[in-house]
Amino acid sequence: MRAIVIDDSRAMRMILRNVLSELGHESVEATNGQEGLDAVKQHGPFELALVDWNMPVMNGYDFVKAVRSDPANDSMKIMMVTTEIETSQVTKALEAGANEYVMKPFTKDALRDKLELLAA
Ligand SMILES: [Mg+2]
Repeated sequence: MRAIVIDDSRAMRMILRNVLSELGHESVEATNGQEGLDAVKQHGPFELALVDWNMPVMNGYDFVKAVRSDPANDSMKIMMVTTEIETSQVTKALEAGANEYVMKPFTKDALRDKLELLAA
């Protein structure tokens, strides 16, 4: 699977990309929603986007809305990766077109389980 990891935390991007790599998935990265959107336009659609919620320039929610406004990206699965415990934010992201979410901190097994749900 070809994935894009969008997160303003360098450490989190590394963790996510390492887990993806261990699970056999290639990935690229972007540091905010706008950068992610540019990468999707230039190199996408990707099969999967792992998207942080809180980021400068463009947050994860606005990224989801922008991606879902273009039918060319319909096949791209979006998983929110968030520390937010407010379920309302997750609900908002799912309503905007995100497919799944995983809460930080997560284990490799938890992420793998979520990815399998997405692939099913
Ligand atoms: Mg962040």
